[in-house]
Order: sequence, then structure tokens, then C-alpha cells
Amino acid sequence: AKDPVRILVTGAAGQIGYALVPLIARGTMLGPDQPVILHLLDIPPAAESLNGVKMELIDAAFPLLRGVVATTNVVGACKDVNIAIMVGGFPRKEGMERKDVMSKNVSIYKEQASALDQYAAENVKILVVANPANTNALILKEFAPSIPEKNISCLTRLDHNRALGQVAERAGVSVSDVKNVIIWGNHSSTQYPDVNHAVITTQEGEKPVRAIIADNAWLDGDFITTVQQRGAAIIKARKLSSALSAASSACDHIRDWVLGTPKGTWVSMGVYSDGSYGVPSGLIYSYPVTCAGGEWTIFQGLSIDEFSRAKLDATAAELVEEKAMAYLCL
Ligand code: NDP
Repeated sequence: AKDPVRILVTGAAGQIGYALVPLIARGTMLGPDQPVILHLLDIPPAAESLNGVKMELIDAAFPLLRGVVATTNVVGACKDVNIAIMVGGFPRKEGMERKDVMSKNVSIYKEQASALDQYAAENVKILVVANPANTNALILKEFAPSIPEKNISCLTRLDHNRALGQVAERAGVSVSDVKNVIIWGNHSSTQYPDVNHAVITTQEGEKPVRAIIADNAWLDGDFITTVQQRGAAIIKARKLSSALSAASSACDHIRDWVLGTPKGTWVSMGVYSDGSYGVPSGLIYSYPVTCAGGEWTIFQGLSIDEFSRAKLDATAAELVEEKAMAYLCL
């Protein structure tokens, strides 16, 4: 039998946390033969609610769940964790400037980074979900010097999955027959959902999305804005932000990172930029990646047309600006 893997979820009493922990405990993230121990962290005002989540996890009698640590102590939460999913963050409240939110999150991520740096298991893999996700991940990297940058990522898989979903709906095919869309850049409204290299599996083999959905105006227009603004559309409809889909995508992100991407398939992950595709290095930028042996690799060599180039650059420019703002808050 496998040894249990320790998985930290911060902000675990929140909406996404509540949707995420049962997926992990059921084996959706790491597979049906991988026991897990959940470390749940939240802030003191949420302690009672966090304990309620722990009670429900016990009541659900998940066979793979070997233990639950529910705590408001950052150091205790980070001790020996193999995977850390950072969902907790300070939400933007009405009347708050972007810089105020940034400043709150910079201090949260600084503290949690030091705790992970000192107490997490060697080779801990980190996924940042809380917004501004790319920049929070960058702060985390700065303050966790012993954790290699290849172990730090942010979530753009929800945007990626949204793009797959939109293409499948439009083409009238199953979402499992669509692959290789790309989300470039920031997890924000400047992100660029790109279908230029995406394919649909048909009875005659794989066909480019643009050959099946012949409506370029839609692909270059409403498709992009729908994916970019899907989060706001969910809030409008549900009066709450997306939690089910965010949690599901976080599972997909970790599963593919740990267990590998299928042959011929890439996914989108926010990772530390090495300058690939003409993006400034030193940003956490969403790229197409393949994963094998627990490591991601940026997929290289895709052609970037002029339309795409401008969009890759615009979202990079926003990240450069966010990075500068974050450093002012340090
Ligand atoms: P959610 O669980 O809905 O969201 C948590 C974070 O995920 C937010 O930063 C949110 O950003 C981001 N997020 C939301 N939807 C998406 C999406 N679709 N894709 C990507 N990211 C998304 O928030 P709750 O308020 O329910 O829960 C937050 C928890 O964090 C609470 O339990 C709170 O106590 C805890 N917390 C922890 C802190 C800490 O660790 N020090 C500090 C503050 C809070 P956005 O706000 O932009 O939607």
C-alpha cells in the first residue's frame, strides 16, 4: 500500500475549499489507490466553520482519507506537506483599491511562503488559486528561497477548461474530444484563450478547431471574451463566485502535474517564465505545458501570429505592472 500524501488546503473553510476537499479525499486528485492526509488552514474567525468541515470529512467516511489536521496555525498546517493548494486570500471588497488588496495578499503570502520554506516536505508542489494568483505565486517564490521555482505554479486550468467547454458546445462535440487550447498570461481579464493549435477528435482523426468551427469572427471575438468574463457571468448568475469548477480544475492541475499529461496533449499552467515565447523572464505566466515524472515543461515551438503576439504581450505587460505593485507593498 502507498504511504499517505499530505495535502495542505489554505482558506479551507471557504467556498472553493468546501468543494475541493471532498474531491481530494475521494481520490479524484491523486487516484483511487493513493491515501491522503488533509491539512486544512484558515484564519481564526473561520476556525469554528473549519472544524465543521473537518466533522463532515469524518462523517463522509472516505476510505482514502487517513487523517485531517484542521488548524489556524500556519506553521502546523505546513508541516511535512507534499502538496499545498493555496486558496485562502484577502477578497477585494467594495471601495478597495487594487493596491490595497495586493498589499493584504502580499503579507499573507510572505508569511505562508516562509512556513512552507521551513516546514514543508522536500519537493513540495505548490498551486496558488487565490487572486491575484500569478503575482501571489511570485511573492511565494520570493519568500521561499529553498523551494525550486519549478515547484511553484498558479491556476489557469479553470480558464483552460472553460475554453474547452466553449469550443465543445459550439462544435456540438463532447468536451473530451477537444484538446490543446492554451491560456496565455495572467489569470485575469487580460488572459488570452488561444485556439490556434487546438484540435477536435473526429471519426476521421484530429482536425484543427478552426476547420470545424469555421466562424473566425466568433473564435477571435465572443469566444475570447466569454472565457475571459466567465467568472463574472457565474457571479451574476449564482450571486457567488465559481467554486465547483474552480475546485475541479485545481484537481485537474495537480493530477496532471503529478501523474502526467496524456501523450500529445498539453494543458495550461501558470509557471515561472524563462523567456519562452518572448515573454519577459521572472514572471509567473500561463503557458502550454506537458507534464511527466512530476515535472512540467513548457511546450515549445508553436507559431504565434500577429494577433496572438499582441495579446501575449498585453497580458505580460499587466503582469509586469502587478509585479512592480507587489514589490512596492513588500
Ligand atoms: P473562495 O473560496 O470563493 O475564493 C478563494 C480565492 O480563490 C479568492 O482569492 C478568489 O479570488 C479565488 N477564486 C475565486 N474564484 C476563482 C476562480 N473561478 N478561479 C480562480 N480563482 C478563484 O472565497 P471564500 O471567501 O469563500 O473563501 C476564502 C477563505 O480564505 C475563507 O475561508 C477565509 O477565511 C480564508 N482567508 C484566509 C486568509 C489567510 O490565509 N490568511 C486571509 C483571508 C481569507 P476572488 O476574490 O478574486 O474571487
